[in-house]
Amino acid sequence: MTSIVRDLINTLHGEGDTSHSLDADMQRVLQQLADLHGLPIETLNPVQARAQPTPADAVAALLNAEGRDTAVAQSWPYPKSLDRLIPGAESDLSVRVYTPAGAGPFPLVVYFHGGGWVIADKNTYDASARGISGAAGAVVVSVDYRRAPEHQFPAAWDDALAAYEWVVLNARALNGDAERIALAGESAGGTLAVATAVALSGRRVGRPKAVLAIYPIAQTGNDATQSYDDSADAQPLNKAMIPWFLDKLVLSPLDRTDTRLDLINAELVGLPPVTIINAEVDPLRSDGAMLETALKEAGVEVTRKVYGGVTHEFFGMAAVVKRAAEAEEFAGAQLRVAFARVAGREFKGVLPRAFGFASSESLIKIKAIGYAAKHSFSDLRPFEFERESAREDEVVLDVLYCGVCHSDIHQAKNEWSNTIYPCVPGHEIVGRVREVGAAVTRHQIGDIVGVGCMIDSCRMCEPCLSGDENYCSGPNSWLATYNGPMVPAAKAANDSNMYERENTFGGYSDVLVVNEDFALKIPGNLRPELAAPILCAGATTYSPLKHWGVKPGDRVGVIGFGGLGDMAAKIAIAMGAEVILFTRTDEKLAEAIRIGAKAVLESDIVALTHLSNSFDFIISTVPQKHDINPYIALLKRDKTICVVGALETMAGVDNQALALQRKNVAGSLIANLQDTQEVLDFCARHDIGPEIELIQMDEINDAFKRVIKGDVRFRYVIDMISARAHPQTDPVSRF
Ligand code: NDP
Repeated sequence: MTSIVRDLINTLHGEGDTSHSLDADMQRVLQQLADLHGLPIETLNPVQARAQPTPADAVAALLNAEGRDTAVAQSWPYPKSLDRLIPGAESDLSVRVYTPAGAGPFPLVVYFHGGGWVIADKNTYDASARGISGAAGAVVVSVDYRRAPEHQFPAAWDDALAAYEWVVLNARALNGDAERIALAGESAGGTLAVATAVALSGRRVGRPKAVLAIYPIAQTGNDATQSYDDSADAQPLNKAMIPWFLDKLVLSPLDRTDTRLDLINAELVGLPPVTIINAEVDPLRSDGAMLETALKEAGVEVTRKVYGGVTHEFFGMAAVVKRAAEAEEFAGAQLRVAFARVAGREFKGVLPRAFGFASSESLIKIKAIGYAAKHSFSDLRPFEFERESAREDEVVLDVLYCGVCHSDIHQAKNEWSNTIYPCVPGHEIVGRVREVGAAVTRHQIGDIVGVGCMIDSCRMCEPCLSGDENYCSGPNSWLATYNGPMVPAAKAANDSNMYERENTFGGYSDVLVVNEDFALKIPGNLRPELAAPILCAGATTYSPLKHWGVKPGDRVGVIGFGGLGDMAAKIAIAMGAEVILFTRTDEKLAEAIRIGAKAVLESDIVALTHLSNSFDFIISTVPQKHDINPYIALLKRDKTICVVGALETMAGVDNQALALQRKNVAGSLIANLQDTQEVLDFCARHDIGPEIELIQMDEINDAFKRVIKGDVRFRYVIDMISARAHPQTDPVSRF
């Protein structure tokens, strides 16, 4: 190839001048490396290869000869480092955490070292990770992922993702701010960084804000690229080494085309800004150019810089190679810009409240008045307490209405053996926003919003990331609107409480403070007092009806015609189903017909027999354990009965009845945020809502008694204005 043609191709790929003269600094390192007498890696087995001198050894030898160490060679304060173990995809991983000087919380960078997935570790790349920490002013977590051939593709990728998720979840403990997080990697680690960003891009929350890929392997389909040609014999990486690494990494040739490795064919759309750093004399330089093109075509913001006169592995040589120091500074500046953008809070997947926000000590308190149970055996009484004022991502609500769910009674009376007293129940809350935190974007002052059973979740576990906050598997599970985290600190690993709250107080109070993400929009045409019960009773029944795919023409059974039963029936009817209610109560038969359902007395054995094998779905809302075998008989083959009412051990199930027709018994817990918003919108669209009876706050104890007796049609809703007017309070307890 003529130099003119080569220049033209290079220009087309943005490769610039590739005249190949090594600068003096680089030559010195390579000469030192040669003097350490390593053997060509491609002629060795992995164990031998791992024992060869590295470019880092060459740098250390040069520094030693000059009586210097890397600390003094950097222009920023030297980051401190600490090694520790974290959980990987299959086994614990060793990581090194670099913390820059200063107070924090710092941005976070998860860094993956190079070495072709076969050789090298975090020690080899210590200078790179340390340099990024200093230059970006970030906590860097450098990960020893599993290496091939002991652990072949995709073990390293699985570990990279696990490590990233661990860092986000533990940001606070790292003195980090998980809202400002980036992925970085060098060589094979650069590939891991981009691939991990791709893996995270479908996630609703927790995505990185930037990716730094330093001379990554970006494709496996073309070994005749410009740089494979012009840098075939470069050091310390040459063309022959690449297939040697890949052979150790992948089991089957098909793996080479996996887009976690063949990045240019990955789904790159939606990635955060990517910075690519390449060395001029490097077989992988063209991979960088191809990745740049692929990212641009996918609409990703990408910046690529090729450093002339240096080779693969130059990045960590800042102590002795001037271009490396420039590259570190450039990488740091790119990351700082990306982190600074987060201040504008374009990141909508909000992170756990503890991350990077004001500490609870610094928040002003808001006085609140509510009704609380002090003991399992006591009535609810007026109760004064203090709430923290809104943090930057929270809103303060004046509570307007709060539904009375049977769960409030279970909880106040400690029927689930987990109540924390004082207990201020209430998780069917509608309020008007009276104050918004500085970073709130979803709501404005004056908006009418609703809050259901959750006010926060870890947002980083698999269920949260897939939008099922109600099944949060974080260390404390979700944070309940009242009664604190579902897994309290006492039961969590290390007694940790990521929410920094042991108890929470619900909607039987005049004011509520809630994260903006957990405040749902109340549609304008839905009366707020009707919207309240939809936030639990509606959501808890809509979610399983949706999950098990109820559709027009289906026959749906609803057992128990109370608050949940009423909503289940109306929603299923609006979905186009035929609904049959099963009730203990004669007087409810006519009520069922009024709402467009049919009804059968639970005791009517003859009617039940006639309905055998005819139901597509049955939901039980009965608040006590009860015998579901008569209802299993009513299901068609393959169909499901879902128990949402009794959250306790149920009576025995006849498995023969299940097995003979492959029927299913299931449970379901409240609803995720998406389903909760959906059911509000669904009810508004179909003009349906609960049957309610408005009560005053001081009528709550009678209301509880009537709910227990089943003497209510069908939901009490407290007019919370009455709580504000109440003059009496107990001697103040402070929380
Ligand atoms: P309600 O008291 O309003 O309604 C329950 C209905 O069940 C009663 O009206 C009654 O209807 C029927 N019932 C049958 N047996 C009994 C009994 N022994 N005692 C009382 N009622 C009985 O309760 P909700 O609808 O508010 O709540 C129902 C259950 O659902 C509660 O246990 C609650 O804790 C639970 N729940 C579960 C959630 C989840 O996520 N899984 C979320 C929210 C609530 P009838 O007269 O027609 O027989």
